[in-house]
Amino acid sequence: MFQNVAAAPPDPILGITDAFKKDDRKDKINLSVGVYKDAAGDTPVLASVTEAEKLLLDRATSKSYKPINGDAAYGSAVRTMLFGKGSPLVDGGTTETCHTPGGTGALRLAADFLKDKAGVNKIWMSDPTWANHPAIFAAAGMQVGKYAYFDPKTNALDFAGLKKDLEGVGQGDAVLLHACCHNPSGVDPTKDEWKEIASILKSRGAVPVIDFAYQGFGTGLEEDADGVRVCAEVFDEMLVCSSFSKNFGLYNERTGALSVKAGSKDALQNVLSQLKVCARVNYSNPPAHGGDIVTTILGDAKLNAKWEAELDEMRARIQSMRTAFVQGLSKAGAKQDFSFIEGQKGMFSFSGLTKDQVETLKRDHAIYIVGSGRINVAGMTASNLDKLCKAIVSVL
Ligand code: PMP
Repeated sequence: MFQNVAAAPPDPILGITDAFKKDDRKDKINLSVGVYKDAAGDTPVLASVTEAEKLLLDRATSKSYKPINGDAAYGSAVRTMLFGKGSPLVDGGTTETCHTPGGTGALRLAADFLKDKAGVNKIWMSDPTWANHPAIFAAAGMQVGKYAYFDPKTNALDFAGLKKDLEGVGQGDAVLLHACCHNPSGVDPTKDEWKEIASILKSRGAVPVIDFAYQGFGTGLEEDADGVRVCAEVFDEMLVCSSFSKNFGLYNERTGALSVKAGSKDALQNVLSQLKVCARVNYSNPPAHGGDIVTTILGDAKLNAKWEAELDEMRARIQSMRTAFVQGLSKAGAKQDFSFIEGQKGMFSFSGLTKDQVETLKRDHAIYIVGSGRINVAGMTASNLDKLCKAIVSVL
């Protein structure tokens, strides 16, 4: 039977890194995969994470299984990040959290639950979106629809198009929203726009599924949660998928969470029981280490302050690279106005480069970016910026 299995195409994002590794040109640059790099071009372990790991090593007495949905302390810590310290939504009995293997695991758990347990057959997602989004929900058997999001003519949110499309969402459909730092465009709705989005979806009888992979990478930990908190005020029922890959630098520890809000305490417990069934037949129970690091850091005032300072530093570096990139393009002779890149949020920038230009950058300059023109600004450094800007201007 295996003789008849056809080869799958390479992953649209991780496949680029495979090609990058095989390239032996010395000055090659990889700005494809969403991984933060510091000024030296490294993806370091955060000092707060190392400190937490030492504490965990000293305290460890067992490697026994976690509960199917993870520890209660992890759930409370995650919900405090989502809803804010002191919010009744943290431990008030209408929200619960499942510790999942990364943000991807949270999305897949959400998809399995919606499709198999809640009878939701269709999910709408922004056009464009993270390449893995449609694949995850389709793998769970859901239909995937698109709503307008980014206007390439203005390099901004197509809010009129978005509202028009969301007004056509069916009763009982799910709608995937990026909480902040929209991947791939870097363009986010304002708080007032979030309120309008929430009110349209509420009137349609849709359920929001919020993907929160970059909390703290946009404006700040609290500000980035605006959209989640607006929705939590409007909706009785919603799902939030958190990833701690970027903001804690825990990429390979696969650390994430699916939080659910339900309309009553009874409904919540039923939902949680079904989420556990979905988790049990998929990964059984979550990997401990990353979640324990997050719980340790968030539960210790000193470590928490250290982590927040490291997060602030990552965000500030990305912002400074945005400014340097815009200036560098202009210095290299770009005729277009790229100043919109400075206003985008998070790791990514939608450069407007075409597929052909992306291909030429790879072939002639050993510069690797995603075919859509998405550039990982967090991969830029003072030492690769000059070459990058000149190469981009040469293909424009
Ligand atoms: N959602 C978005 C928008 C992402 O960009 C990513 C990571 N690239 C994820 C979810 C998944 O994160 P994780 O690596 O934690 O699975």
